[in-house]
Order: sequence, then C-alpha cells, then structure tokens
Amino acid sequence: MSKEFDVVVIGAGPAGYVSAIRCAQLGMKTACIDKWLDHKNKPSLGGTCLNVGCIPSKTLLESSELYHRAQHEFESHGLKIDGISLDIGQMQKRRVGVVSELTGGIAGLFKANGVTSFAGSGQVVDSGEVKFTDHDGKEETLKADHIIIASGSEPVELDIAEFDGQRIVDSSGALEFEEVPKKLGVIGAGYIGVELGSVWSRLGSDVTLLEAVDEFMPIADRQVAAEGLKQFRKQGLDIQLGARVTATKTTKKGVEVEYTQGDETHSVTFDKLIVAVGRRPHTQDLCAKGARVDLDDKGFVNVNDHFRTSLPGVYAAGDVVGNPMLAHKGMEEGVVIAEYLAGQKPHMNYDVIPSVVYTAPEMAWVGKSEAQVKSAGTDYRVGQIPFAANGRAKAMGQQAGFVKMIADANTDEILGVHMIGPYVSEMIQEMVVAMEYKASSEDIARIIHGHPTLGETVHEAALAVDGRPIHFPPKKKK
Ligand code: FAD
Ligand code: NAD
Repeated sequence: MSKEFDVVVIGAGPAGYVSAIRCAQLGMKTACIDKWLDHKNKPSLGGTCLNVGCIPSKTLLESSELYHRAQHEFESHGLKIDGISLDIGQMQKRRVGVVSELTGGIAGLFKANGVTSFAGSGQVVDSGEVKFTDHDGKEETLKADHIIIASGSEPVELDIAEFDGQRIVDSSGALEFEEVPKKLGVIGAGYIGVELGSVWSRLGSDVTLLEAVDEFMPIADRQVAAEGLKQFRKQGLDIQLGARVTATKTTKKGVEVEYTQGDETHSVTFDKLIVAVGRRPHTQDLCAKGARVDLDDKGFVNVNDHFRTSLPGVYAAGDVVGNPMLAHKGMEEGVVIAEYLAGQKPHMNYDVIPSVVYTAPEMAWVGKSEAQVKSAGTDYRVGQIPFAANGRAKAMGQQAGFVKMIADANTDEILGVHMIGPYVSEMIQEMVVAMEYKASSEDIARIIHGHPTLGETVHEAALAVDGRPIHFPPKKKK
C-alpha cells in the first residue's frame, strides 16, 4: 500500500529541508527523502551544505585562522605563546562534532514540525508518484499532490585528474586530510580553491592554485578581486592565472601535474591535489524512464518563474536548478515554492542575493559590479573607503581592504556594494536590506552607525558617494 502526502520533497539540503519545514508550517502533510550517509554510514540531513560544504569548511577556516593569528599576530598585541602546536586530529574531531550537531538539529526540526523523514533514495515516477528505496534496497511508493526536487549538486571531475580519494580529491576529501600536506595543488581558484587553499596554507602547506582563466575571481568586482589577489599572494598562496592543466600522473611520491601558461609548459609534483572547478547538477536516477522532467543543456532542471518543471505537479529548487549555487538562494527558493503551493504570492528577488568568500580578509558583495553598471550605460557615482580609516579595524589589527558603494548618479539608488575586509560577511547584510528597500546612498549616509564599529566604513562609503566622507579625505574635484 502506498503512503500519501500533500508534498514529497526529494533532498534534504538547504533547499529541500527548508522547503519541507515551510510546507509543514503551512499545514501540508509533508515527507522529505534524503540519501546522504555520514562517515559512520548513518543518515545525515542537511545535504552538501551541512555535511561537506558551508559548515565544515567554515569550521576549518575558523580553526586555521586562529592558529595563524596566534602564530603571526598575537605577539604584536603583547601576547607571547611559547611553542604553539597543531593537533590536527582534534581540529578534525571538532569539525565532525559541529557538523553532527547541526545535521542532528535538522532531524529535530523535522520532528518538531511534523515532517516525515525517509532515509534513502527518491525517484520521480510520474506526476503525484515517487518511488522510495531505503538503504537496504526496500522499495515503497509515496503518493503526493506536489513533488519538490531539491537534489542539489556534486563536484565536477576532470578526465585528466580523476578523483582517487587519496592523492587527487574533491572538496569533500580536502576537508578530511589527517595530516597537513607539504605541497598542495588546487585546480581552480574559485570559491572552494581560495577558501580551502587558505585553510591548508594557514596550517603550513605550500599551496599552489592553478586557475585556467586569466582573471582572478571574474564574478567579483574587479577592485575587490585585485585586492583579494594581492592579499592572498602576500599570505603565501601561489595563485597562477591562465594556467591550463594538461595532464596529471599519480606516483608513489605524489601527483605530478603538467600545465601550460602562455607559451610555457610547467611540471610540478604535489603531495595532494584538490580539484575544485565547479559543481554540476545532481540528477542521476532522479527520474524514472518516461517521467519527463526536462533538463537544460548543462543538465540543470528546467523550471519556469514559479519553479514548475515540465512535469505537472513537480517543482524544483536549489543547486539543481542553476546558479548561483548558494545555500541561501536554495533556501529561499524552497520557501517560495511552499508558499506558492499554499496559495500565497511570494516573491524571490534574484538581484539582491549576497555573495561571500570566507577568506581573510573576507570578500562580500551584493548587486551589480562597477563593470556591470558601466556596461549597462548607467550614470553612476562611487564611494570607496579603506578599513585603514576605521578605528575598530585598526584596534583589531585588520585594516586591509575597503567598502565600495555604487549608486545611480541621477536617482542615488544603491546599485551594488562590494567589500573586502574583516567580517564583511556580516556587514553585507545591512546592504542587502538597504537594496531590498531600494535605499539611496543618502539614506545610508543619514543612518547613525555605532562607534567604533566596522559598519562605520559602510556609512563613510555612503558619504563618499556624495563626496563628503568625514574620516577620510574626499576625492579632489576635477
Ligand atoms: P544539496 O545541499 O546538495 O542537497 C541535496 C541533497 O539531496 C543531498 O543530501 C543529496 O544526498 C540528496 N539527494 C540527491 N538526490 C537524491 C535522491 N534521488 N533521493 C534522495 N536524496 C537525494 N554555499 C553558501 O551559500 N555558503 C557557503 O559558505 C558555501 N560553502 C561551500 C563550501 C563547499 C566546500 C561546498 C562544496 C559548497 C559550499 N556552498 C556554500 C554551496 C552550498 O553547499 C550549496 O549551494 C547548497 O548545499 C545547495 O543546496 P541544495 O539543497 O540545493 O543541495
Ligand atoms: P567556482 O565556480 O567558484 O570556481 C571554479 C574555478 O575553477 C573557476 O575560477 C574556473 O575558472 C576554474 N576552472 C574551471 N575549469 C578549470 C580547469 N580545467 N583548470 C583550471 N581551472 C578551472 O567553483 P568551486 O570553487 O568548485 O565551487 C563550487 C560552487 O560552490 C561555487 O560556485 C559556489 O556556488 C559554491 N561555493 C560557495 C561558497 C561560498 O558561498 N562561500 C564556498 C564554496 C563553494
């Protein structure tokens, strides 16, 4: 006999678990199927984000940053520590602990909200029907008025550098090293490359990033990317741009990597090689033969502006529907679908999704970059203030970076804000709120910001749009 639900969600990553909880809050009888198993082969909710993505990477970024600061910055504060040493086992144990508390937390939230959790695989059979297969292979049919696909994404593998789990690893493997590799190579200098490259570099690895594109982080504003590149290189990350890997060979000693850069050919041997060249949608075995859920040419599930797929009653959200592949974007899509199903009229504003890179200094932005504003032909003004002019940043000893605000020259509406500096991951949220409410730079200039806070740099950048910063010399008028 089949089990019946109002909604069945496939996938319990950020898009799926949030959607399931919101559906249940809105009174729908909801089930959520997820196949993730942790290192002990136990079901673990939360998808990529909680198990091998956002959370474990930020946990290691925090630990490695503390280690680095204790070694390199404490002395300037008058703090002398003799013989600080690294206990990588404890660091990894802590990572596993943080992850398991949070994944267990999702299980608790499902219980509290009345979401029925199924551990195993889900497959869309047709409108209204999902086949569930548990981890022992037992099958069951689940009937539902609505099906939500939230099956996420997986790392892209390169033919010339296949994952072996030992020498050549994906981002999950790169979180689990039990000792610090002496020489670490990373193919790709995107989000994962710079974040995990930073982790292992701070812990003592000699890290080289091989990036195929000639520009560093093309998705960021050019000034933020240039400052990031300067800071990361200063920290010791060897970032090679325009570096095209042509071959890899695993030997007893390590992994030999050949790459070309301009007219030159290079060969270098690493102890470990991380491949971080993007992620692709996870749709393998997701639909039974004949269940026509259309995919685009890159394999993402095609959805319309109400997240409907080509199969009636089937919706999709999160990484599986496309970029940006960010947890908070997937969560919001999950909420919006649930609210559509409940007859509400939610709205998803793709123009105001924050991006954050959790390096040190952090990079964060929202809205359009200066290049995008320029190519749209909009008249604009820019206010830019360095953290070196901020009292709190000085007190913290973290004055690298700046806040750059771009506003429409005619209406003064804020079009984009780009930051690099301490805790800009937290500061960007003020600008997300401002842009969601279509604030002008003058609105921000007239809001009182606490003193001394890092947020005063945002205030000063808003003042600088109008050429009247207080704590930084204004640009000379031409
Ligand atoms: P996923 O999190 O991938 O979840 C999909 C779930 O569905 C998985 O549990 C999978 O096992 C399950 N599933 C798939 N198919 C089936 C099936 N047929 N049946 C049952 N279950 C199935 N994003 C940020 O916003 N901030 C960050 O700091 C950040 N850091 C990251 C760091 C790393 C190292 C990585 C790899 C990613 C990071 N991301 C970050 C990206 C973020 O993890 C993803 O955008 C997010 O997890 C996508 O959520 P999702 O729900 O769409 O998919
Ligand atoms: P990415 O798209 O951020 O970066 C991949 C990089 O690899 C790009 O710079 C690309 O030019 C380069 N590349 C592609 N093919 C290459 C090749 N053959 N040789 C050398 N370089 C090559 O992808 P990622 O770093 O793998 O991360 C995947 C996704 O996960 C991100 O796009 C992001 O959506 C998400 N993520 C987000 C965060 C965060 O929000 N802080 C952190 C990690 C991951």
